[in-house]
Order: sequence, then structure tokens, then C-alpha cells
Amino acid sequence: MAFALDTPLTDALGDTAARSLEKAFGMTTVGEMVGHYPRRYADRGELTPIRELPIGETVTIVAEVVSSKPRQMKNRRGAMTEVVISDGVGCMSLTFFAKNVGQAEWRASQLAVGRRGIFSGKVSMFRDTLQFAHPDYELFDDTEAAWKQADALKDVPIPIYPATSAVQSWQFAKLIIPVLDALGDVPDPLPDELRRHEGLLTARQAIDSIHRPQRRDEIGPAVRTLRAHEALTLQTALLQQREQVRALTATPRRSSPGGLLERFDATLPFTLTADQQRVGAEIADDLIADRPMNRLIQGEVGSGKTMVALRAMLQVAESGGQSALIAPTEVLAAQHLRSITRMLGPDMSAQLFPTLLTGQMSAAERRRAALRVASGQSLIVIGTHALLSDKTTFADLALVVVDEQHRFGVEQRETLRAKGTAPHAVVLTATPIPRTVAMTVFGDLDTSVIRSMPAGRAGIQTFVAPLAEKPEWFGRVWQRAAEEIADGRQVFVVCAAIDTTKNTVESDSEAPPADAEGRGPSWGVVQLDEKLGTHPTLSAVHRAVLHGKMPSEQKDAVMQAFARGEIDLLVATTVIEVGVDVPNASMMVIMDADRFGVSQLHQLRGRVGRGEHAGLCLLVTEAEAGSLARERVEAVAATTDGFELAEVDLDLRGEGDVLGAAQAGVKSSLRLLRVVKDAGLIAHARDLAAGILESDPALTSHPGLRGAIERRVSEADRAALGKN
Ligand code: ADP
Ligand code: MG
Repeated sequence: MAFALDTPLTDALGDTAARSLEKAFGMTTVGEMVGHYPRRYADRGELTPIRELPIGETVTIVAEVVSSKPRQMKNRRGAMTEVVISDGVGCMSLTFFAKNVGQAEWRASQLAVGRRGIFSGKVSMFRDTLQFAHPDYELFDDTEAAWKQADALKDVPIPIYPATSAVQSWQFAKLIIPVLDALGDVPDPLPDELRRHEGLLTARQAIDSIHRPQRRDEIGPAVRTLRAHEALTLQTALLQQREQVRALTATPRRSSPGGLLERFDATLPFTLTADQQRVGAEIADDLIADRPMNRLIQGEVGSGKTMVALRAMLQVAESGGQSALIAPTEVLAAQHLRSITRMLGPDMSAQLFPTLLTGQMSAAERRRAALRVASGQSLIVIGTHALLSDKTTFADLALVVVDEQHRFGVEQRETLRAKGTAPHAVVLTATPIPRTVAMTVFGDLDTSVIRSMPAGRAGIQTFVAPLAEKPEWFGRVWQRAAEEIADGRQVFVVCAAIDTTKNTVESDSEAPPADAEGRGPSWGVVQLDEKLGTHPTLSAVHRAVLHGKMPSEQKDAVMQAFARGEIDLLVATTVIEVGVDVPNASMMVIMDADRFGVSQLHQLRGRVGRGEHAGLCLLVTEAEAGSLARERVEAVAATTDGFELAEVDLDLRGEGDVLGAAQAGVKSSLRLLRVVKDAGLIAHARDLAAGILESDPALTSHPGLRGAIERRVSEADRAALGKN
């Protein structure tokens, strides 16, 4: 019987092979196995340049044996074979240990000089020589008979698969051949006519060609077809999700003349920015529709998103509707409560009764708060994850506001939503997201962007402190910090690690622990705090440290003390939250700035220069001028436009990092599709998806597409349960 995409691997390959594939890659079906695409293709005739191999990474290359020597171990029992392989220019060495000389000789005769094959291992450097640790290999067949066929074989590309030490690329390549042979017809996500119109292969053909192309030129069309399938499946799934919410009936929430919203606007001490007015109007329109709003609001820290959300809360409050604002941390929730209460003023606060509900409140406090929420007395509820608890119920939840979406998944948004009858939802994010990424990650939401900042902001200046060329800048950075503190301002210092001696990095940090040369960050919070303790001026100021390994009460206490101005200089990791508002903080020093992503640096510096005092950000780096790492840091100093930087970030880092952990489901389903490079394709796929759904909302006559969506969802669920 022919295999289908949902055939279990145990049926297709037997228990042993199926188990090893599940363990290595988490795959359990034929569909997942054929979805494990080659990373690239090698050529029998063409050797992989050895000089360019990345140290510390596991790679698979094509090379030729140039020497092979068995020898007895000097100081202990056993023997070894030393093999040198080459690409014709550079060399690298492989060492195989053996029980005895006989075994070592057998290995040497197998890896005879002149033989070519695929070699795989972790690249390391030992006494100026590149080495493979735990090498593994598969030699090309160059028996007499094979040489006769060599001409025919010469052009057949060798697929190189993402591999693990347990399942090597060539082992996977061998396992998939019988599966491809037995694979029956594969339903196409695109109807035949559309497929031909798009100039794509059939799904079955594309799967075959990507795994075992006979010629190089077969690969391109196969990749193009499968990439288009990915884009179409993803966009259809997102649009379907969006339609499901839109199909619900919501209560229209109208504001009336002389109502809360109008009264509030009349008391505002400033005028709304043009963007705030535009987005505000979009939301006001959404709220009077009879289907739920589902909108993403992007805008940088301080652009006035909370203000926009608050006005939406007032609009729904006019008809007695409650709003729930969920924030990722206690500190942010408390800050929101303070600023919302302040913006409302005493009269409106009394009327709307903004209420805080967090996990750290005492049981009695929480019960009282929960009662005000359940009874409908409180029309604005602000909290953390505690809002999601079963114990939290609302009298009439009309609007859900999610702050800093990237910390929450779609599930949390939906859990909160389920506490009302089809409430409206807005998601606020301070991370600028390029349009196509937004289309992919938040494809079920309508998006609004606030680009302009309120006037009267002092703004921020950013400079690079390039220690590689100007080591004396190190001293000047601290001198500058001391001046700032002498002026009565406060200073943030951010490090990429907590303690460099223990090599601890912040668990939620995006900073890579080591760079390409295997170097860790130079400064940890602990080391820098010690160093500053010996500084002539800074040793005398109020200093504190803050990092993720501290208990959360202690973290909150430090953050609050800093907010009250009781701490002059805070040495911290990236735990200092997005959105934390300390108007008196005017300077930020970022150590090892090259260890952070471009967007992350931009987010970090957004915490200073928020008040009347001009902000200063110093990016301290040891990266050499001209290096990629240095380029990233320079890019941040060169502009304050977060959207521009988000694009730079994507160019330089690839989207995996940008999509963020909460989006694991989306990330894991992107195989061939690249959200930046394939922007045009994604937009096109969205149009196609919209067309298909319009004529066939339940996809009854598109079984291939429906099946692809179902497989995607189940894989995404598994990824979400697994890694994150
Ligand atoms: P975000 O949530 O985007 O970080 P907020 O809504 O918290 O920004 O606004 C930041 C600060 O700017 C708040 O103190 C707010 O009162 C103030 N603000 C908001 N809109 C304006 C405006 N149009 N003009 C002046 N100040 C504003
Ligand atoms: Mg905010």
C-alpha cells in the first residue's frame, strides 16, 4: 500500500528507525519526514572550502583524504588513526581512536589517500589546525563499476540535511529514499488550475525533486513550489483564524455626546498627535461594529499607545463595559495603574474604579479586588497573569488590552477573551515589526501604527564607545555617568551577562553568550559593579544591581527604588522592562553592545530621554571597526527610527530571532519561507488565500489546503509544548 503524508513512521520505516528520527528531530509521520528539507546540496566533484568553516558548529562537507596514518598510543593502551582531509586548498585533521593497531590500520586503509566523501563533525581549532571532533563520514563509492557510471553520477547533487550526531545527513538521505519510492499521490494545496497559473510543480513532484534531484536545475522549481505552499498554508490559516473571531457577534460600544470619552478629552493637558487621532478613530469605528475588534497597535515606547488604549476603555465604559489590561510583569502593571489613575483624575477614577489584580497581592487584597471586578464596580482592571486565573470573573468584559504582546502567546489573549462575550481586543507592542513580519506573526490581527512621537520630548543621542581603537573611552564613559549623577539624574548600565566567571546569561535575553570566536561577554553585572565600586566618584553614589537570578520581590523593590530616585546608578541585565518609566533617568550605558540585537538595543535605550531631560546612550563595544558586530552597533547610533532598525535587524540576523519565543508555533512552521526576502510572495499568498476563502470559507473543495493547515496546526502545537 502506498504511503500518505499521515502514515506513521513506525509503519513506513519500522520501530528502530522511526524512534531514532523521532528522538533526533521530533518527527513521527511521513509528512514530517518529507518536510525535513536539505539545507543545501553538495557536488561529488566540488569540494567544500575548509577555510570558511565556522568554529564551534557542526558541519557536513565534501572533501578528499590526503593522508591517513595509523599509530600506537604512546602513554596508554589502544591506537589511533590520524587522517587529513583537504578541499585542495586548506586542510583539516580528523582523529579516530581504535582498540588496537589492527583496527586503526583497517580505518586507514578504508580512508585511503585520494578517496572522497562527506565528512561531518564539530569544527574546532587545535594548535592552528582545524579539526573535526567526533568525526563521522560516508565515502563516495569509487569501485571500478562506480567509476564507469561516474559521468552519469557527476551531476547528481548530494542533499545535505540538517543533522544530529545520532542521525547524520547521509543516514537521513538513505532512510528517505524508500519512503519517497512508496509515497503515493500527495494532495496539492492549490487547485490544479491555480497551480498551473502560478507555474508550480505538483506537490508530489516537488517533494521528490527537493530530496533527490537528478540535476541542479530541478532544485529551484521544487523549492519555489514548496515555499509557495508554505506561504499559502500559513496565510490561509491566519485569515481563517481572523474570520472565526469576526464571525462572532459583539455588543457595539457607542460613545455619546457628553459621555466619559468626551469629558476625558476635554481635560487632556495636551492635544493628541495626528497618529493617535487616526488610530483612535480606527478603534472607535471598530468598537461600534457588531463583530469583535482584533487590532494590533505598534508604536515605540512613549509614542502614546497607553493613551490610545485608555480612550478605548472609556468608550466601552460608557455602556457599562469593563476593560482588562494585562501586562507581563508586576512592575509594569503597577505602573499602568498609577499612570491611568493619574490621567483619569480624581473624579473619573472614582467613577471607573481602576483596580489592580496581581499574583503578589495578599489573599485578602486579591479577594477584595476580585469582588469589585466580578460585581462590575470596577470598569478598568489592570493585572498580570493573575487575570487569566479561573477565579477572575467579570460582570461584563467588553475590551481586552494586551500590553507588550511578544511576551504573551495567542492562547493567553484568547483565555482572557473567553471571560467575556466576544469582547473586543487590542494588542499593544513597542517592538516595531516590519509589515511582512506582522502579516505573518500577527496575521490574524488588523494593524495600526503610531509613528510620530508626542512633542516636547527631549529625545536621545547615541554614541558608540569603540574600545578596540579607543580604549581610553572606557574611563570617559564613567566620568560622563558621574557628571550626569552630579546633575541629579539617574543612570542605567546594561550588561549582557550576570556573572562572566560563571558564564551566566539572562535566560530571557536575546544576547548570544558567545561570539563567533567563542568569546563570552567581557562584562557581567557582578564584575562591573565591583569595578565601579573602585571608581573615585561612582564608588560613592547609590548603586544597585538587578538581574533575573534575584528573587522577584527583590527585583521589584530595586526597580521601585530606582523609580523613586533612591538609586543613582543601576547595573542590570535586560530584565529592566520595556515600558518602565523613570523620567529622571537620562543616561544609559550598554556594555558589550555588540552582543545585543539591533532592535533590542533600540528598545533598551528607549528607557531614557523620556522626560524633560535629554537622553544619552553610550554603546560600549570591543568589536573591531568594519566587523559585522560593529556595523550593527553603528546602525543603532545612526538612527532613532525603530522601523528602519527592525529592517536592519532582519537583514543582519535573520528572522528566527526577531519572531521571538512566544511565536514558536509560527517559527517552527517556517521552513523555506523567509519573512523578509519572501515579502512579495507572502503578500501574494495572502491575496490568493483571501480569494480561496471567499468562495470556499470552510475549504470543503480544497482538501489539500485544509489538510496542510491541519498538519501545520498539529506541528505547531507540538513545538509549543516541546521547546518553550
Ligand atoms: P506608550 O504606552 O506608547 O509607551 P504612553 O501612552 O504611556 O506611551 O505615553 C507616554 C507619556 O506621554 C505619558 O506620560 C503620556 O501621558 C504622554 N502623552 C501621551 N500622548 C501625548 C501627547 N499627544 N502629547 C503629549 N504627551 C503625551
Ligand atoms: Mg506603555
